[in-house]
Amino acid sequence: MGINDYFNTFIDIIYPRQCFSCDTPIEDDMEKYVCRSCLGKIKIGEDNRCVRCGLSLGQYADMATFGCISCKDLRLWFDSVHCVGEYAGIIKELIHKFKYGRNEVLYITLGGLLVKGASCVNIMNHIDLVVPVPLFWTKRLKRRFNQSELISKELAKCYSIPHSKGNLRRIRATETQTKLTRNQRMANVKGAFNVRKPGKITNKRILLVDDVMTTGMTTSECARILKENGACRVEVFVLARAGSLSF
Ligand SMILES: [Zn+2]
Ligand SMILES: [Zn+2]
Repeated sequence: MGINDYFNTFIDIIYPRQCFSCDTPIEDDMEKYVCRSCLGKIKIGEDNRCVRCGLSLGQYADMATFGCISCKDLRLWFDSVHCVGEYAGIIKELIHKFKYGRNEVLYITLGGLLVKGASCVNIMNHIDLVVPVPLFWTKRLKRRFNQSELISKELAKCYSIPHSKGNLRRIRATETQTKLTRNQRMANVKGAFNVRKPGKITNKRILLVDDVMTTGMTTSECARILKENGACRVEVFVLARAGSLSF
């Protein structure tokens, strides 16, 4: 047994092997934390989405060329948005259990979904560097991990692309965005990030990874700072896209 096997056995003792979503016992070694039936319910990359902001367009799919009604007048600093799926159902439940329930092991399942989603939307070609959206250090300390860092690391490892941790930094704590409007969110994150070593991202095509995207103001501000510091492209890839088209 290697050290990883011992570690996994240790983890299995702490976390009984039941599906995190439906609680049925998991006997299959292929997937440790979520059963096949629940995993099968997650729709990966099936929706028609706006290429600019990632919103699901449903029956309005033909409006996607220059952005949808929700984003066409917005200045967005990233070049595209892709996601694994909608922020709903099992994926939403798992993200909650991961982040707020501090179930760190779920990075394996969610990172796996990110890997599957990446091949589905074909986003890893022409990426030089994977960069997670950072947390402010007090928040990271409280949660014990940065969810985006853990899942993006799985993705980078799978595709053998360098993973950048700690170069893009959140330099001030920001108010929780949940109850803020889009404009308030934009103001809330303005100037909240910096890059420690710009030389490491010069002319790089970056994949910026987050767990959930709602209005895109946080990722857009990260993209702005990355480009201001020399990155040549910033594509955004998130596990789940929240929000819907409103007319
Ligand atoms: Zn299940
Ligand atoms: Zn859009």
